Amino acid sequence: MHAPIFSLEVFPPKRNTTVGTIYDTLDGLESLHPDFISVTYGTGRYADRTATARICATIRGEYAIPTVAHLTSQYADQVAVDEALDMFECAGVKALLLLRGDRTDGKEPLGVYQHACDLITYVHEARPDFLIMAACYPETHPEALSVEEDIRHLKEKVDAGAGHLISQLFYDNSDFMNFVGRARAAGIDVPIEAGIMPITRAGQVRHMSETCGSCIPPAVTRLLEKWGNKPKSLCEAGIVYASQQISDLVSQGVDGIHLYSMNHPVVTRRIWNNVQSLFEEAL
Ligand code: FAD
Repeated sequence: MHAPIFSLEVFPPKRNTTVGTIYDTLDGLESLHPDFISVTYGTGRYADRTATARICATIRGEYAIPTVAHLTSQYADQVAVDEALDMFECAGVKALLLLRGDRTDGKEPLGVYQHACDLITYVHEARPDFLIMAACYPETHPEALSVEEDIRHLKEKVDAGAGHLISQLFYDNSDFMNFVGRARAAGIDVPIEAGIMPITRAGQVRHMSETCGSCIPPAVTRLLEKWGNKPKSLCEAGIVYASQQISDLVSQGVDGIHLYSMNHPVVTRRIWNNVQSLFEEAL
């Protein structure tokens, strides 16, 4: 039996933050020895297209941790994709999480790689050396016409070359386990990591619920009602909630846990300290 995969996600420092803050984040995450750290790719107006590759090079070169570079499709043409792939190759990146990307207000998609599947097909053929990952949605993508359609499009991504899936955040483990059941029934047999985002602020939960369509179960509503006005207590309760989610998922035999670190090394480390032994026991 294999221990579940344990991976982390970081994002490039925001525009009004010092670039060096990423070192603080990585210094704090290094001792967790994750299987990989993935680095998001910005599509916003001010996003720096080179940041993901540079941070991946740092993670691999200075921290000796494998990395996964995110790359988004909808605002890219083939030249831009090739440039990004070259950058990732130079940075020593071996695996890519290929996505459509979030919509940027007022910016029209180019239509070259309309869906993640289009980008996966291109990269799989043009650069077969990259391991390809893709995103999946336990509660169904908010734009999907139906649960069945979403699973059908997910299968297309796997058939096009995605060998590993990472899920959107969710707060109710039964949503994830039911989704895995649907995916397996549809013939999707690649590893599916569960995406866990610790609750650190009340606003963050509401924002994610609005943008990602993630349901807020009664247990999280109670937590927000109780601690919503006490940020430190809410964060403590969020650490306990995420740790319990992970413990339960590992006990149910999930393929892996992808922890959205939100560049908060202290919160991430506390959660890992709570659950680390379960990963070792699962061996
Ligand atoms: P797709 O797979 O293209 O799916 C999007 C929608 O289109 C779904 O409803 C799907 O059912 C539908 N669809 C798919 N194919 C077809 C088709 N052929 N015909 C009709 N409909 C179709 N965003 C960023 O900008 N940067 C990041 O770094 C980033 N990282 C992420 C990491 C993870 C783990 C996750 C879960 C999400 C991440 N996102 C990121 C957000 C992601 O870009 C959004 O969720 C986006 O809305 C969908 O991306 P996708 O790759 O899943 O899209």
